[in-house]
Amino acid sequence: MKKTVWEKLDEKDLVSVNDFAEEYRLFLSKSKTERTFVNHSVALLKEAGFKALEEINEVKPGDKIYAINRNKNICAFVMGKKDLIHGMNILGAHIDSPRMDLKQVPLYEKDGLALLDTHYYGGIKKYQWVARPMALVGVVCKKDGTTIEINIGDKPNDPVVGVSDLLIHLSAKQMEKKASTVVEGEQLDLLVGSIPNKEEKEPVKGYILDLLKRQYDIEEEDFLSAEIEVVPAGEARNYGLDSSMIMGYGHDDKVCAYTSLRALLETNDVERTSCCILVDKEEVGSQGNTGMQSRFFEDVIAILLDKQGYSKYVDLNQALTNSCMLSSDVSAAYDPNFPDVMEKNNASYLGCGICFNKYTGSRGKSGTSDANAEFVAKVRKVMDDHDITFQTCELGKVDAGGGGTIAYILANLNMEVLDAGIAVQNMHAPCEVVSKADIYEAYRAYIAFLRDMN
Ligand code: MN
Ligand code: MN
Repeated sequence: MKKTVWEKLDEKDLVSVNDFAEEYRLFLSKSKTERTFVNHSVALLKEAGFKALEEINEVKPGDKIYAINRNKNICAFVMGKKDLIHGMNILGAHIDSPRMDLKQVPLYEKDGLALLDTHYYGGIKKYQWVARPMALVGVVCKKDGTTIEINIGDKPNDPVVGVSDLLIHLSAKQMEKKASTVVEGEQLDLLVGSIPNKEEKEPVKGYILDLLKRQYDIEEEDFLSAEIEVVPAGEARNYGLDSSMIMGYGHDDKVCAYTSLRALLETNDVERTSCCILVDKEEVGSQGNTGMQSRFFEDVIAILLDKQGYSKYVDLNQALTNSCMLSSDVSAAYDPNFPDVMEKNNASYLGCGICFNKYTGSRGKSGTSDANAEFVAKVRKVMDDHDITFQTCELGKVDAGGGGTIAYILANLNMEVLDAGIAVQNMHAPCEVVSKADIYEAYRAYIAFLRDMN
């Protein structure tokens, strides 16, 4: 067995681990979507003295700056004593998580019940998302330019919604099916109402539309320009009889995003500029104007460089080339219930510290940027200098499956990038599990990286 973080913690450390985990648990519970995560991140940044990029005229060492992209993607900086052209130490993670999204025309009535049609987002085992309480979180953007925030199902007295599953008594045929088809995408429709309004042609749907109009001032057509995410309802919970873990929705990758952001908030007085970038759309390929492939990040760097007097295209390239990054995303925690998919020497374990993956990918590392050995050696040194417990790992046995991250996108900008992250059980299920010791150790690792990588 690998040595765990727990073994080195004294009484004082344990208090720090538990306090930090509790702050994360509460943050995660109210930040289930990329939009809510950005909103709550901005609150933390402002509290720590960060200013919006638009408010800044000149950029000096020690300045704390953030930039928001379309309410779904955010980056923040602590400016170093050296100019930005000498490069940054960057922490990156994604803040979108697998879920179901309402379709554009979602509401319909069938056989006396009102339902909302969904299209799932990211890779999910669909059978895990039925017969459980769900919340609706998102925005409805109206033609008059106003935006209505929706959050139904998370407050203690809210109703919840959900997707039904077939009763076991009548499941003889369903139980014969393969797991991939036992619940199909078009069956992921939410039951949302059952009271008829006799005045209406479609009475149950009509009742729901009246209710939406009264409570939220939404018309049926307004769903056309809405983004409403269907996410597991309720708070993340302490997990295990010893409360050593947290079970909750969206650890992938909000556990890495939160710890990276908190590390930046702790950072002052650095030689090289520190940066944290949190992106949307990783679970569907990182494309689009709020994903890592967006020009947003480079544009913000160009603006900061310009404010330091560097405005040539080569200056931007130099700043990026001289940068280095920990691209953090969750790793697959070894699970004694499913040992066959792991190769034990190169697996990640709950409680054994921050994970470093030299490479990701599938079928012969396809899709990976593969960190350079020289850079991995430098990261190892910083971690050892700060007594950070880390483990190296890959996503399961060779050819068992695989997956990618945002690492290659920044590596393509010619900076050094290493995949890092926190081990998680039940990845992409409605309730994922992480170790509190790993959360705290990752946070410490990120602080060390921001301060001492050069
Ligand atoms: Mn992820
Ligand atoms: Mn994922």
